[in-house]
Amino acid sequence: MDVSHLLDELNDPQREAVTVDDGHVLVLAGAGSGKTRVLVHRMAWLIQVHHVSPMSLLAVTFTNKAAGEMRGCVGQLLNLRPEGLWIGTFHGICHRLLRMHSAEVGLPDTFQILDSDDQYRLIRRVIRDMELDEGEFPPRQIQGFINHHKDEGRRPDGIECFDHSFQAQQVAIYRQYQDYCERSGLVDFAELLLRTLELLRDNDARRTHYQERFSHILIDEFQDTNTLQYALVRLLSGPQNRLFVVGDDDQSIYGWRGAKVENVSHFDRDFSPQVVRLEQNYRSTETILEAANRVIDHNAERMGKNLWTEGDRGEPIRLFAAWSAEEEAEFVIARIQDWIEQGNKASEVAVLYRSNAQSRLFEQALLREDIPYRVYGGLRFFERAEVKDAMAYLRLMHNVNDDAAFERVVNLPARGIGQRTVALVRDHARANALSLFQAARELVERNAMSARAANAMRVFLTLIHELTETHRDSDLGEALDAAIKRAELQAWYESREPPDRAEARSENLAELVRAADSFDQPFEDEQAGLSPTASFLAQAALEAGEHQGERWEDCVQLMTLHSAKGLEFPLVFMAGMEEGLFPHQKSIEEPGRLAEERRLCYVGMTRAMQQLYITHAESRMLHGQTGISRPSRFLAEIPAELTEDLRPGTKAAPTAVGRAPEPADGLRLGERVRHTRFGSGTVINIEGQGPNARIQVNFESAGSKWLVLAYANLEPGG
Ligand code: ATP
Ligand code: MG
Repeated sequence: MDVSHLLDELNDPQREAVTVDDGHVLVLAGAGSGKTRVLVHRMAWLIQVHHVSPMSLLAVTFTNKAAGEMRGCVGQLLNLRPEGLWIGTFHGICHRLLRMHSAEVGLPDTFQILDSDDQYRLIRRVIRDMELDEGEFPPRQIQGFINHHKDEGRRPDGIECFDHSFQAQQVAIYRQYQDYCERSGLVDFAELLLRTLELLRDNDARRTHYQERFSHILIDEFQDTNTLQYALVRLLSGPQNRLFVVGDDDQSIYGWRGAKVENVSHFDRDFSPQVVRLEQNYRSTETILEAANRVIDHNAERMGKNLWTEGDRGEPIRLFAAWSAEEEAEFVIARIQDWIEQGNKASEVAVLYRSNAQSRLFEQALLREDIPYRVYGGLRFFERAEVKDAMAYLRLMHNVNDDAAFERVVNLPARGIGQRTVALVRDHARANALSLFQAARELVERNAMSARAANAMRVFLTLIHELTETHRDSDLGEALDAAIKRAELQAWYESREPPDRAEARSENLAELVRAADSFDQPFEDEQAGLSPTASFLAQAALEAGEHQGERWEDCVQLMTLHSAKGLEFPLVFMAGMEEGLFPHQKSIEEPGRLAEERRLCYVGMTRAMQQLYITHAESRMLHGQTGISRPSRFLAEIPAELTEDLRPGTKAAPTAVGRAPEPADGLRLGERVRHTRFGSGTVINIEGQGPNARIQVNFESAGSKWLVLAYANLEPGG
């Protein structure tokens, strides 16, 4: 292949980064400046010019979608089959390593990944088993506690606490939960990283092997790595190999989940890399870029960059204030229709929003207009109840000791196995260090249950046993189909739910069988000796939902701002730009989190290549109440000369339906007020008018309160 061609497509600093000959490299640059492109070209250049074996490269990125695109790009640049390449997310790569070394890290080779929902259920189970009060130890909070400590690399023994303290009890739950996972061969997301870390840390031979094997490690989106991921990078870096790290501090948006933007400066300190800065943006129009730069300027403590473009001035950023969230969705869909009618592709359009629940109105409007779409995130395909039910059968067929799967379907469909029987099985399992399946079998064999319970349990055990035996050598789709039919899942949903719900579930099950049928086992999984079933189960847990909608290639993309990172689209809508929604209510009071919200806004705006619409609704149903919303403060940070206001009644807008209530008593959302008893606070919601008006105020010391405005005697300011 012609090498000059590889470098021709790059500007000077990009070329410099790609061709650095010695030492480590840190590319620090703003959105759309070609960081990902540089990383991909670097891989191609190493292979082509330095004759580095493709198998000696390890490339890590943030999402499976990005990894897939990267794989495709490298394959295309070099005209090689990219299947065997080590390109993936940290989780995906750790999973692969654990599969290869399961015995060394003390995992059964049938180990299963526990997704976040399964993890929650398991933790709730453990809390109940320990006879602790769920009010005092909310499972969601304990889940956060466990994941936080795992993300920081801490096992229960490594957490400091006083005897009998609250912390000590949380640690005890963590320990029980972990025992449970060990017994059932279950690995949660954080555990994937932590186990791999321990393997590399404690096993010198393995560590040296991988340090030598991966001569080059390349990492995209480095600003969103967490403590464990950074520690992994350090362990993988040996005396010989070279790190190539790219990132943008302005796009660090996962601090709330443990990401450490400091890792960028730590990398600079620990590895003394050559630092390359890229300043030319190739993605967006000048207008979009300037607006995004002006918004992010409001954040303090930036590493600071100067982004410019040779691109066109472009069209102004269009702002639209809808009366209601419904009208907002209608407006957006009408603009998408125009776009498609002008001969453009639906897949060039992205609708971005702050929280998953916002997708519903857009989905409904798109369905009504028969425009194909695909939702990333949200309740993803593999997270839907019926899909998880069917998958639980498949998991048991793969590993009868998978306790999470056992719990899920032992009495689904209902077969007369009550809570008491399950509790008996759990106790027996705990007392004898058995899996639930083993414990159930022992109890049945020893006649240690009532005859009715034993009969019911026998039916279940036999079902799993027969399915496993009959389908040991079947195709994946066939096995799954058999499980769904033999377990009579469809009939079960039909007996309990209205026909349309049951039908939707049955469609999803059919879709699942199709997905299993057409499942192409990744080459690297096959090499690692995984069965297709194991691959399929792992993929479902890791990539939840990334396959849905694939039947229509050309569809509108719906996703949260978080999932849009690294992507680009000619036409972008940012919807729901309202105080309390975006910036999110929880972040408004904390400067650090507010700055992260602003970075998220910057990420959203810089996804747009040609056109950007920003919309908000003046009233919206939130938490079951319709409240009046104020436009997001980020809107005010965009200079007016870069925007065009599209108000209802102007040409581009549909006719308005309904009117939002007037603000009560001249008070506005976000305004500061004083109350004689509660002190000062911020108005966060207003409902109703006149004597009925109610107002919600978030008081600094007293928390959030609803007050009847007429009696509240609020004073402005405070
Ligand atoms: P983000 O921060 O959003 O991840 P990025 O810095 O990774 O962005 P890329 O996605 O690599 O940026 O590049 C943005 C766009 O600019 C892509 O469409 C890319 O192909 C294009 N691009 C980058 N560099 C060049 C170049 N030298 N010539 C032409 N196009 C380029
Ligand atoms: Mg990128």
